[in-house]
Amino acid sequence: MSGRQFRNRRSTEHQSISPARCAWQLLRDLNVQSIPVQPREIAEELQIVVWEREMDNRYDGCLMQVGGAWGILLNSLIQSQSRKNFTIAHELGHYKLDGIGKSQHRCLRDDLRAFSSHQLEEQRANQFAVELLMPAPIFKADVVEYPDVGLSAIDNLAAKYATSLTSTAIRYTRLSQHICAIVCSENGRIKYFAYSDGFRRNCDCYLVKNRPLHPDSLALKLTESRSNEIEELNGEVPLSHWCQTGAKHTLIEHSRRLPRMKQVISFLWLHAA
Ligand SMILES: [Zn+2]
Repeated sequence: MSGRQFRNRRSTEHQSISPARCAWQLLRDLNVQSIPVQPREIAEELQIVVWEREMDNRYDGCLMQVGGAWGILLNSLIQSQSRKNFTIAHELGHYKLDGIGKSQHRCLRDDLRAFSSHQLEEQRANQFAVELLMPAPIFKADVVEYPDVGLSAIDNLAAKYATSLTSTAIRYTRLSQHICAIVCSENGRIKYFAYSDGFRRNCDCYLVKNRPLHPDSLALKLTESRSNEIEELNGEVPLSHWCQTGAKHTLIEHSRRLPRMKQVISFLWLHAA
C-alpha cells in the first residue's frame, strides 16, 4: 500500500482508537511478519523521512510536518539502537493516533523512557510503540520459550526484539502470569515501576513512587557499592523490604546496575505466595 493511501487513512483516524489496535492494523497493512520489527522501514513505507541531528538532551525525538511531507527527527545524542527504534516507533504513534491538527510533536526523553508521562498523547504514543515493537500475541508466545522467570528471560527477549532492557522488562512484567514487578530506582529512591495483574491483585504487594530503598535491599547495596565490578545481585529478601506489609513472605529480588548513574533495575518475584 502506498504512503499516500496511508496519509489519507490517517486523516480519518481519531483519538478514541486503541493504540494497540492501531499498531496491529499497521503491521497487518504492511504485512510485517518478522521480528525484530524495523520501525525505520515502516517509516519509509509511510513516506516519512527519518533523520538525526543533535537536539537539546531533554528531547529524544520529534515528529514534524513541513509542507505536505512528514519527518521524524531523532536526537543524535541517543546512543543505543534500541532507544532509537523506540523513539521512531513512538513518533509513528503520534503520526497514526493524533490526527492532522498538530504539525509538530517534540517528545521529552522522560516521557519516552520513564513510562510515567502525565500527557495522554505521550502515553498513547508509548503504548503504540510497545505494541508495534513487541506485539502482544507474538511476545506472549515467545515468553513461553524462556522458562527462567526474570532478567535472563528479559535479556533474551530484548535481544530478539531489538528493544531496550527497560521497555522489554516493563512489557514482560505487565504480561506475566506470575506475581512480579519491575522497579527502576535512582539515587536510592524508587523512580518508576510496573507490575503484573497478579501483583496488583495481591493485597500485600504495594509499591510507592519516590520511596527510599530499604537499607537491606539488593538494589540499595548496588547503588552504594563503590565497586563497578559488581553489576548484579540476586537473592531472596523479605517482601517487606519492598512493600509496606506485615506479611512474612519472601520474594526473589534480581537487581542490576544500569549504565546511567546511580540507576538500578530490579525484578521482584513473589514465587512462593
Ligand atoms: Zn511523544
